[in-house]
Formats: sequence, C-alpha cells, structure tokens
Amino acid sequence: MRKVKWKKKLIITSMTFVLSLMAATVSADTGTAHIKIGSISGGASNISYWYDSSLSTYGQTGAVDNARSKWDAASSRIGWSSGSSSSAKLKVYAGNYSLPGGTYGSTSYFLSNGQQVDAGAITNGSNYDVARVVLDAGWTSGWSQSERFMNAGHELGHVLGLNHFQNAPAHAGEHWMKSGRYALSSPTSTDTSHVVKKWGN
Ligand SMILES: [Zn+2]
Ligand SMILES: [Zn+2]
Repeated sequence: MRKVKWKKKLIITSMTFVLSLMAATVSADTGTAHIKIGSISGGASNISYWYDSSLSTYGQTGAVDNARSKWDAASSRIGWSSGSSSSAKLKVYAGNYSLPGGTYGSTSYFLSNGQQVDAGAITNGSNYDVARVVLDAGWTSGWSQSERFMNAGHELGHVLGLNHFQNAPAHAGEHWMKSGRYALSSPTSTDTSHVVKKWGN
C-alpha cells in the first residue's frame, strides 16, 4: 500500500514537471492551422508598401503604421520600405462599409500578373507577389484606437503568413491573430512567437 502511494506521488510529480515545461515553452505550433507554408515572394525583410489616399480619408493611417512598426520589432527578419502604387508588394486601402457586413478588414493575395491566389493555397505552400489589405472604417466606427490598431495588426499578420488563432488547436485568450474586436495595441507573445517561427528571430 505504501509502495503504491509512493509510485502515484512520483507519477504526479513527473506530470507536474512536464506540464510546467510545456507552459514555459513558446506556444507557437509548427502546423498550418496558424502559420501558412507559403509566403510573400522575396521574403519579409524589405516589404515595399503603399497607402491609398482612402487610408487617411478614413483615419486608418496610424493603425497601419503601428502594425508595421510592431511586426518589425517582433523579428529582425521583418522590415518595410515605402513603395509606389504600381510596384509595392503591400497595398493598403480603407473603405466605409465596403466590405461584407460585419467584416472589419480583409487581405487578398495576387501574383504580379494580377491573378488572385486563394488564401488556402498560400496556407498549403503557394507563394504570392502582392497583398491587398482593406480596413473598413464603417464596420469599425466607434472603435477605440487600440481596437483599430488590433484590426490593422491582424490584417498585416495575414500578409506575414499567419492564420487565425481560434483555428484548432486554438490558443486561449485575445490575440491580434484571433478574429474579432480586441483592445490590443501590440501583438501578444503568442502572436510574436508565431511570426518568429515563420521568419526567424
Ligand atoms: Zn499556434
Ligand atoms: Zn483574419
């Protein structure tokens, strides 16, 4: 009886040790649920970007600037440079109820010849040349600054190859890469660990 108790205690102690190790480990997974295999062509170290005038019309410029800056800080392999409307790899627009009902933002992907690439294909390994981000000032009217920052951060996360964290196996809590409306001016450690997994430190 005594021996059995001791064994049980040993098993419980080992399990606690393993669980504490898991908690300490960065929570980025290597599957495609949260990280796309395909990427923006040319890598992320110098993504040229261009803002349409609609961005300032609808007061979204600061949110996109913040998103670029915060993702830039998350990895030395991520960087941006200003480009032109014709040659930029990231083109950002704002609309006023221009997206389908209740859609806060969208990212679509294209080849340089204009052909659209399905987001699912990029998840499975296709690359793309140009990303088009639209932020909807209409569906997000009344949002706080940190909520608008989250919205832009979320869409640029898609540009950088991340998928949704509510996809199984889901990450608990609120993150830039969880769909929805959250007051987050910066990516969470879960967001940054995924982008580091994708691009390196
Ligand atoms: Zn994950
Ligand atoms: Zn999304």
